[in-house]
Amino acid sequence: MSINQEIFNKTFLNKYRRVLVTGGAGFIGGAVVRKLLDFNDVIVFNLDKLTYSSDLYSIDQKLKSLGSAAEGKYTLIKADLCDENKVKNAIEKSDPDLILHLAAESHVDRSIENPNIFMNSNILGTFNLLQNSLSHFNNLSKTRKKKFRFHHISTDEVFGSLEKDCFFNEQTKYDPRSPYSASKAASDHLVNAWHNTYGLPISITNCSNNYGPWQFPEKLIPLIILKGIAGKKIPLYGDGQNVRDWLFVEDHVEAILTTTIMGDIGKTYCVGGGNQLSNLYVAEAICDLLDQNLDRDFTHRNLISFVKDRPGHDKRYAIDSKLIFKEIGWKSKFSFENGLKETVFWYLNNKLWCNNVLKKSGYRGQRIGNLR
Ligand code: NAD
Repeated sequence: MSINQEIFNKTFLNKYRRVLVTGGAGFIGGAVVRKLLDFNDVIVFNLDKLTYSSDLYSIDQKLKSLGSAAEGKYTLIKADLCDENKVKNAIEKSDPDLILHLAAESHVDRSIENPNIFMNSNILGTFNLLQNSLSHFNNLSKTRKKKFRFHHISTDEVFGSLEKDCFFNEQTKYDPRSPYSASKAASDHLVNAWHNTYGLPISITNCSNNYGPWQFPEKLIPLIILKGIAGKKIPLYGDGQNVRDWLFVEDHVEAILTTTIMGDIGKTYCVGGGNQLSNLYVAEAICDLLDQNLDRDFTHRNLISFVKDRPGHDKRYAIDSKLIFKEIGWKSKFSFENGLKETVFWYLNNKLWCNNVLKKSGYRGQRIGNLR
């Protein structure tokens, strides 16, 4: 964190003691929950529907490592955001000072195949959460009202596809092109509307593609790693030249938490990793790491195969993170090289977790959303 850790902890604890995280059983939400559990005196409530992409093992491990210090610090609330009553009860039970909204259906390919669930969870779910957060906020004491914050975690995909050499920033016009990004764009608009119309104190971060340990293995980086480890073909959409701006998940967690204490209310911040790389570059870098770590009689690059492109596949994402650096002092710390090394090693050492989550979810590494 760019601001002094001690000052950060003090400021955070001064504002927030009870934190409700939605989607805390997912990849980024899990990293947020684990980080929050490191703070003494913070109580974390994790509202999650526990869909196919969720897993609680990393949080269980974290709680175990904290031992008796974890007592009373963490509560799981299994609930679907689309269930009004459950959301109402969850807010009443958690009585939060801070809400971090990460729960969403998050995979573009699945949104192509089955958009309904994205509209429900990402739009209706956000609406339910906002309504109940507003009632909660309105009933808070004056002192708690001053500190309360609803922070929404969104994606750069709401801005659409970029030409070469351009960057997304906070002024970029929304232009979502997939059912997933359209549903996230809608949720961003709802969050802003609840601020402008009802005065709910919100902030939003729109970040680029995350990667790191514990990511469900349908997303590009873990999928490539696991296909490589299994010696199977590594599928790349189109010509592999689509560019993403890779952000290590721990950097993202820091950006979220710093924004909640230093970011202005009502404001959006763009969060990028500063690593704009083609999918082919990423796949080759993973293959090279696998070559170095696995004793094989072939080179993993030979497994790369180009397959039919994703419908509506955005060509390029890149984020200009100047505002969050200028106003909050956040910038990514992990180089792609180090973040990727850590990620590949983690997957090499956690095959059992991968097998378990794949088995539980029913996902077998197959192509999803190939409509045309
Ligand atoms: P994920 O799929 O790993 O986790 C999502 C979590 O939300 C899961 O635990 C799931 O059970 C829960 N969930 C889904 N629908 C729900 C519902 N209706 N009610 C309650 N819980 C529900 O996703 P992730 O990669 O951790 O993404 C988290 C957030 O960050 C999402 O809002 C996503 O749009 C955003 N984001 C992700 C990335 C990325 O690269 N992963 C990039 C930008 C933004």
